[in-house]
Amino acid sequence: MTDQKPKERKKLSLKTRTLLLTEAGYRCAVPTCRGILALDMHHIWEVNAGGGDDPSNLIALCPTCHALYHRGTITEDSIYIWKSMLTSLSQAFDREAIDNLLFLHSTPTASLALSGDGVLHFSRLIAAGLATYVCKANNAWQLVTYVVVLTEKGQQLITAWKSGNRELLEKALNEEN
Ligand SMILES: [Zn+2]
Repeated sequence: MTDQKPKERKKLSLKTRTLLLTEAGYRCAVPTCRGILALDMHHIWEVNAGGGDDPSNLIALCPTCHALYHRGTITEDSIYIWKSMLTSLSQAFDREAIDNLLFLHSTPTASLALSGDGVLHFSRLIAAGLATYVCKANNAWQLVTYVVVLTEKGQQLITAWKSGNRELLEKALNEEN
């Protein structure tokens, strides 16, 4: 162990990086981006303002979004919201389920016909009331497919999450049925 150099920014430990990358699903934490290019670890509370290297103060951002934040295009408030959403979503769902949520939100439902096995990939979201499925069959029930769609609750949650708007998100989260 050497003496501490308090002013110098330390390299993050592999453990911290891995934890943050897992939380973000190895993608940029900005829900409208989700880029998979090399990810930066952004300090939510800046280092020169006293912010530390605790995982709760760090978020994975792609270089583009990181630059947009420092230019002021992405607000501090949005970063805070994306971080808290990611923390709670990653505790409730696995990486595939989070990707599926964003996918359902951006895909016209009519084009998504799945087999029964396909529906299983959405089971966590269906159980949480964020998505639902409709069974479609031809006349003789020879070909059964399923269409998975976001529920109203799911729609509201993802719209609010993507917006990075605190009021919208609080509204969506409070509208429990
Ligand atoms: Zn990004």
